[in-house]
Amino acid sequence: MAFTNKKKMSIWKRNRKRALKELGNKCVVCKRSVNLIIHRKDGMPHPNTDTALLYFEEPEEYALVCKYPCHTGVHFCMKYLGMDWDDIINGTIA
Ligand SMILES: [Zn+2]
Ligand SMILES: [Zn+2]
Repeated sequence: MAFTNKKKMSIWKRNRKRALKELGNKCVVCKRSVNLIIHRKDGMPHPNTDTALLYFEEPEEYALVCKYPCHTGVHFCMKYLGMDWDDIINGTIA
């Protein structure tokens, strides 16, 4: 079933509101609130925030981080250092 753009827009708006409410409004790593994006905690490549918001169903699978440097850093740690989300959030990054 194809969504109409109007339907998509209402889902997007609803999910955006929910994301901000449930994920807070600052980066979970550095606590700043600029350039925030929605990151999928499992470390798999994920769509940009606008697209992610259309599929945002389980808030606990996502976290807000700032685009740079934290998001870049999180993916770097996961991809090259084999760390998982908990390692990173628990401050294992020196
Ligand atoms: Zn940050
Ligand atoms: Zn990410």
